[in-house]
Amino acid sequence: MDRISVMKPWLGTAESDAVAEVIASGWVAQGPRTAAFEQAFAAHQQVGHAVAASNCTTALHLALKVAGVQAGDDVVLPSFSFIATANAPTYLGARPVFADVEETTGNVSAQTIEAALTPKTTAIIAVDQGGMPLDLEPLRRLCDERGLALVEDAACGAGSTYRGAPVGVGADVSAWSFHPRKLLTTGEGGMLTTNNEQWAQRARRLREHAMDVSAADRHGSTLAPQESYGEIGYNFRMTDMQAAVGLVQLSKLEQMVVRRRELAARYQQELAGVPGLRFVQDPEYGTSNYQSFWIEVSRPFPLDREGLLAKLAEDGISARRGIMASHLQPAYAGHSGYTVALPVTERLTANTLILPLYHDLREEEQDRVISSVLSASALTTAGA
Ligand SMILES: *Cc1c(COP(=O)(O)O)cnc(C)c1O
Repeated sequence: MDRISVMKPWLGTAESDAVAEVIASGWVAQGPRTAAFEQAFAAHQQVGHAVAASNCTTALHLALKVAGVQAGDDVVLPSFSFIATANAPTYLGARPVFADVEETTGNVSAQTIEAALTPKTTAIIAVDQGGMPLDLEPLRRLCDERGLALVEDAACGAGSTYRGAPVGVGADVSAWSFHPRKLLTTGEGGMLTTNNEQWAQRARRLREHAMDVSAADRHGSTLAPQESYGEIGYNFRMTDMQAAVGLVQLSKLEQMVVRRRELAARYQQELAGVPGLRFVQDPEYGTSNYQSFWIEVSRPFPLDREGLLAKLAEDGISARRGIMASHLQPAYAGHSGYTVALPVTERLTANTLILPLYHDLREEEQDRVISSVLSASALTTAGA
């Protein structure tokens, strides 16, 4: 019996051909393919500017920097997220302050953010957790009233929509991931998007050592202009090999979303009504790309989350624990930005798991996952 993975990227010969072409061209570092990928991504996401980065963590770091976050500031964000969300402000000497999330979506709301605001807060990071679109409008109002920068960690969000538009457009600046655990992948890779032209220009310089002439422009000219460095920058560049893969992947994104939504609908239908199981669903204001299809396990389901993970593993199915809680990690032990109680975060992180879902998952394989969950529910109840 083959093992079923939790996630597999959907890559093919179009991607390998695109990389081979870049290698044959002799230009492998950030250059024309990266510029083309940025343009295509901005157009797809209906946003003014896209700036490629080495990954989403570096894109978030740049996003906070161009949004004006400084050492000593507080940035309110969910603990219920991959730890990079909390680390990004930490890199700038700012303090991540943890907010709780809503149980239906796993996302922060205007209420949970407001409860955690401090006098030193200058920005918030809202996450489209697992691809679930966040409810942006109330957060937008809150940030506008208080003069806070609204940063969206849309790492998992490519292909999700909010009120009919792609997620990410309503924030001041958004960050995206192209890690293979997300839908669209470039191996490693990220993107920053914004409608603020000055922020985009600064991010473009900062990711390239804050050089005022890009490496691509310098190498493209015979007599290279003298460059200067106006501030301390970073090397957060993407390569043209990654961008070439990204362009192909972007052209396949809508198909990926359609397939994932079909598979999510099958899980929702087949697992509906199982006592003690709750699963992620579209909110009324948007559509999820189902980057993570999570279920919450609680009584009267006969097994707890760890028990169900073990049962799935016995049946050759590789599920995963749900989203982590950063405030429970040793890296944030004793952290002073843990100021409000986070009961929903702690419950969800303890009781949720992520079921296999990827483009090439066959229905027979998904049926194996469903039967494993259903048999865990039925057999043990009968024995109890
Ligand atoms: C994956 C992820 C990141 C980090 O993305 P990288 O591209 O691996 O740096 C950040 N935030 C969230 C919510 C994520 O899911």
